[in-house]
Amino acid sequence: MHVYHAGVIMHTPVKEQFEIYENAYLCVDDEGKIEGIYERLPERMEGFERTDFGNRILIPSFVDAHIHSSQIANAGLGYDMPFPTWLVKLTYPTEEKYKNPDNYRIINKHLISEYWKYGVMHGVVMSSTDYEATADLFEQYRNSGMSALIGKMNSDLPTYGTAAESTEQSIRETERLIEKYANKTPHINYAISPEFIPTCSDELLEYMGNAAKVHRLPIITHAAEGAEDVEIVRKRFPTLKTYGNVLRHFGLFGQTPTAGIHYNLATDEELEYMAKNGIIYVQCPNSGMDMGTERLLPLRRAMDRGVPCALGSDIAGGHTCNMFRVMVSAMQLSRIVSLYEPYEPLTTSEAFYLATKGGGRLFEKTGSFETGYFFNALVLDDALVDPFALEDPLNRFQKILYKGDSSCITERFCRGKKIEYPI
Ligand SMILES: [Zn+2]
Repeated sequence: MHVYHAGVIMHTPVKEQFEIYENAYLCVDDEGKIEGIYERLPERMEGFERTDFGNRILIPSFVDAHIHSSQIANAGLGYDMPFPTWLVKLTYPTEEKYKNPDNYRIINKHLISEYWKYGVMHGVVMSSTDYEATADLFEQYRNSGMSALIGKMNSDLPTYGTAAESTEQSIRETERLIEKYANKTPHINYAISPEFIPTCSDELLEYMGNAAKVHRLPIITHAAEGAEDVEIVRKRFPTLKTYGNVLRHFGLFGQTPTAGIHYNLATDEELEYMAKNGIIYVQCPNSGMDMGTERLLPLRRAMDRGVPCALGSDIAGGHTCNMFRVMVSAMQLSRIVSLYEPYEPLTTSEAFYLATKGGGRLFEKTGSFETGYFFNALVLDDALVDPFALEDPLNRFQKILYKGDSSCITERFCRGKKIEYPI
């Protein structure tokens, strides 16, 4: 058992409100799981090793529910270009470069250090179609102590020009990665990662649905991002019509834990199905605003229907994996939406929930300080952003949320262990 003391301990077991403890103790057992939070330390906890964070704030660490590892070098670049130009000038050349070991080693290392910097102890990472680059990411992640779901992107149809890989190669290399990395360690696992239906053949979709079922692996896929791809799916599958129906048909929609990325044009039926089957809707607000490719689905529309939701950075569609920024963007965006549509803007506790427990659903007992959850945590120091020594815990946190940066994070923990800078 280990006892942590902090000036404020806060988390969101439910999205509607923060649960806040002042001057409290959080006890973690030897498996790295939370035993309880106490405002007065029980006698039975007295003799255990103790760490004191003084007046600092202890929160669950962040979960980035969507990022493209190959694109991290492009974060922040070219958002004033038209989308097709951005793809040709930045995205595709970077994807090509990611096949080179000299590049993918640096890029993968950079991704892990960025996640460390911003307190993202759990990342859901879609790699490129390249086997070697994806394998390297698994190897580098293993040494970091941080958690991730990683998948080689599968994409074998030339719907938008040329095919990224052949069907045979896609299946063979996915199979090799699953054999080597799936279900091998508790903190890193393989995620079946179809790019999206338009660039995946029936044979590949069928293989992926089957692989997810046989190996019981989670599924990460883009869906219904814009009118064009929705139309491609409708024409190719005239009886199934929607992404939801097609994914479900191939065993890729809720049969194992599933995250639908973007899903800007989800129908009411699709949202209902997602709610019923616990399929996570991942919104990437910075990506939506940086690229402006399609209007985003109002988060409230999904939340009101009971769809579990999460937030993603979607680098390099989005420009940062700083989850403080992603949360603020989600809140700002929802406020703008509320001016034009009948949806209430997100509250701070809702945004925080989406960046912690929301995406944490894809991992084991992650994103909250409830008993039995893993101690995945960040220690925040607001001394740099607050000259007024605010006392109210929520005000202190909001100051960091809006005005802070990575320098406010002084300690990071993943599954009970302190995580040092991954060199
Ligand atoms: Zn994406």
